[in-house]
Amino acid sequence: MAKAALRCIECNEDANELHRDYSNGILKITICDSCKKPVDKYIEYDPVIVLIDAILCKIQAFRHILFNTEVNIHWKLCVFCLLCEAYLRWSHLQGSEQTSDPADIIRYTREWDFYSMFGLAALELAVFVCGVLACLWLVVGLRGQVLDTHLLVKALLLSSYGKVLLIPAVIWEHDYSPLCFSLIKIFVLTSNTQAVRVLLNCGRCLSLLAVMSGLLLESCVSLTFHRLEWHTQDFLPHP
Ligand SMILES: [Zn+2]
Repeated sequence: MAKAALRCIECNEDANELHRDYSNGILKITICDSCKKPVDKYIEYDPVIVLIDAILCKIQAFRHILFNTEVNIHWKLCVFCLLCEAYLRWSHLQGSEQTSDPADIIRYTREWDFYSMFGLAALELAVFVCGVLACLWLVVGLRGQVLDTHLLVKALLLSSYGKVLLIPAVIWEHDYSPLCFSLIKIFVLTSNTQAVRVLLNCGRCLSLLAVMSGLLLESCVSLTFHRLEWHTQDFLPHP
């Protein structure tokens, strides 16, 4: 696969290089021909600064990460976040099904519950990504442009890094609150919107529309599974 072109993080113009290496060992940051600013000032910065700017949803930090670096941890990050999410849902489920039975014969069923929660979280994420892709395919297709699906999926997964905030909730599993999860969700969706905006170099409206489409589909799937669960419980014999 051909390497994606480098971009100026200020004006999004293509760039041939981020810095020039002179023969005497001096490196000099390339200046953008279009905006006359450094093509990518972040190559000099500490990764922590880049991370802080990404948390602040700065568009330049997103362009640096998506176009000018070769970060390939999106799948690992995705699996890690899904495991945290599955564990939280599973522990919440167990909390609502306390049993005093010392034999605890349904222990193995509980293990399968965890796999089910992981599967559901993965399905919801897949539906969310498909929803965003479908919306963007439609709009970008109508404009006669080409959508880089691989880069878009990578951008969506990487920009969901906010789910790492679930880790404290995993550690202090009894101290989380729905408000905390709602705030994490809003942060992740804001980050997703910014990633789509950077990738397509489009306005906020289109990126917000795409992310909301994904969220709507994800909510439909989640609601359908919850209704199925309620129906199943209605048919189970009560103790
Ligand atoms: Zn520029």
